[in-house]
Amino acid sequence: MTPIDDLPIRDELRGKTPYGAPQLDVPVRLNTNENPYPVPEDLVRRITERVSDAARGMNRYPDRDAVVLRTQLAHYLSRTTGHQVGPTQVWAANGSNEVLQQLLQAFGGPGRTALGFDPSYSMHALISRGTGTGWISGPRTEEFNIDRAAAVAAIAEHRPDVVFICSPNNPTGTAVDEETVLALYEAAQAAAPGRHGALVVVDEAYAEFSHRPSLLPLIEGRPTLVVTRTMSKAFGAAGLRLGYLAADAAVVDAVQLVRLPYHLSAITQATAHAALEFADTLLGYVAELKAERDRLVTELTDIGCEVTESDANFVQFGRFDDAQDAWRRLLEHGVLVRDNGVPGRLRVTTGTRAENDAFLDAVRAVRKEIS
Ligand code: PMP
Repeated sequence: MTPIDDLPIRDELRGKTPYGAPQLDVPVRLNTNENPYPVPEDLVRRITERVSDAARGMNRYPDRDAVVLRTQLAHYLSRTTGHQVGPTQVWAANGSNEVLQQLLQAFGGPGRTALGFDPSYSMHALISRGTGTGWISGPRTEEFNIDRAAAVAAIAEHRPDVVFICSPNNPTGTAVDEETVLALYEAAQAAAPGRHGALVVVDEAYAEFSHRPSLLPLIEGRPTLVVTRTMSKAFGAAGLRLGYLAADAAVVDAVQLVRLPYHLSAITQATAHAALEFADTLLGYVAELKAERDRLVTELTDIGCEVTESDANFVQFGRFDDAQDAWRRLLEHGVLVRDNGVPGRLRVTTGTRAENDAFLDAVRAVRKEIS
């Protein structure tokens, strides 16, 4: 095979590795923040009905603007956040990763920069690179929070075109308060005089798991504030690939300039529609997962781990002298967690009660091995 560097590939992609959490076949897989519950049988039946209908019309391209689905997503957001949004303020794509990519295609790109607060979701930097957008890594505190003053200073210094605020943050689990988002939004506007202010993207992939209310109501009257969401986590539908955003309708018009025609297949739209009909059932599972997440925090702390408070469906824990070694040892006990490269820490996704028990047993065993 030709070495990749012998190809006329873009210079900034040379020597880079693709995103990839290991997909290993082990008894307890708690490494990619998936929902552990399989799709309920009555939802499977509803999906089958809706997909059958869609399949009959598959000789035609799908609804390019996914109007029915966007209307349903708007309804879901309105009733779960208490803030009314309409379908013109909602946009959907194949996973929130694609939504983020479309945002960067429209608002980032060559000669522009995006700023995030690391450690955070690594795809923010990777999608920036993929769209030719420069990446600036902003600071976090030792407790993995966004320090408001330091963040405002970083925005003033670098004057980015896009600011990412991940709340709850992956991989740390920490959420951001409203005042901080507002301060960063103001800073992003002030740092871009003569232009129209930076786009501030609040990545709420894990919003449904949070102890705090959604930040979505903040989009009101703030035309460059965007909230992104996904059906991969709370809806237990990572395999579906459906992400969405809510923002001023002008942002939705802007992403339509870069989206591929018919990007969201009729099958995807039909399946997502069915899943949204079961939102209440699925949110019931979220309530169980939140309780299990809180149990993981408590029990890991009792075991003697240093645990970061979590508002997501995962928990960051440590501290290990050698996190890579601890990761390998947990794997030997049949438990796959995630090493996100945060020194001394690992991240575990909340599983079923039995999976979490198996994980906690493995942590106890590994701590004994390395003590
Ligand atoms: N944002 C965050 C913070 C995430 O952790 C993830 C998934 N790991 C995504 C976005 C992307 O999710 P998806 O593309 O499945 O919607």
